[in-house]
Amino acid sequence: MTQRILDPHEIQARPASEIPFIRLPQRGSVFADRAARLEQLAQGHAMQDYLGFIAKVAHAQDRMLGEMPPLALPPAEFLSRSRERGMPPLDPNALKRDPLWCDFLRRMLRYLEPQTGGMVNGVVRRLDAERDEFYEAQASKLLAGISLGLDLATAPLIGAGLQVVWVHLVTTLGVDAFRPIDVPSICPACGSRPVASVTRSGGAENGQRFLHCSLCSTEWHMVRIKCTSCESTKGIEYLAVEGGTEAVKAETCDECGTYLKILYVERDPRVEATADDLASIALDLLVADTGKLRSGQNLMLIHGDSEE
Ligand code: FE
Ligand code: FE
Repeated sequence: MTQRILDPHEIQARPASEIPFIRLPQRGSVFADRAARLEQLAQGHAMQDYLGFIAKVAHAQDRMLGEMPPLALPPAEFLSRSRERGMPPLDPNALKRDPLWCDFLRRMLRYLEPQTGGMVNGVVRRLDAERDEFYEAQASKLLAGISLGLDLATAPLIGAGLQVVWVHLVTTLGVDAFRPIDVPSICPACGSRPVASVTRSGGAENGQRFLHCSLCSTEWHMVRIKCTSCESTKGIEYLAVEGGTEAVKAETCDECGTYLKILYVERDPRVEATADDLASIALDLLVADTGKLRSGQNLMLIHGDSEE
């Protein structure tokens, strides 16, 4: 099936009511698709081992989501209060985590242990042996973007466990639980920063761009050629690695000095936000030369240099 791509004028002319403001992740495929894309991108890649490891983590996430224990949902009154105030109802910094998530993370680690070797296996085993208090403290730092005292080696594993919990929460609550919020640069479901933005094809979404949440994988709509961080429509440029894929670019903003990657489904239907962001680290290095800072985050690769 061929899909006609709309030009920017046609896209802008679409009535906003036709475009869904969010797209929730699909429980059955969100992590399986990521694993498949990572396995594909790992082939012959300079970061082959790491991408291969994160593919195994994504397989483990897929399996764990299917075996999710009955975690407590946020109280109805908490959800409605957040909605009334235009706040993301699943904000991890406002929400009390069900302590069951620690057992659940340990189960995921035990599933991963026999599939890993060498140093990586040592990291998985070390985290498995830690107490719940360590998981909670590390999770709180990771979710609040605090790098002081964050254990960088185990952070992607903690992040992976939290991602499964948050995908479970958003998909259990369903699309009607969420409303547009006042700050368009963060996830309307959980308030986290995006990992990248992705164009979508087909139906009312055709040619539209959505920001992909780094925690809960919810996608929210934002018009194209607009800074995803400060909403400026001036000074937006697109950078790509010469000779690399045309499906991944860095959308940079002169107004606020940040960038976020944009993935073009119409150029490669297999793109997946977390996987393609990890595999395009050469693009981050290219943009770093211009002095622009990353506005997004990828829980599978935590940079320890930000002093927030
Ligand atoms: Fe989210
Ligand atoms: Fe900006």
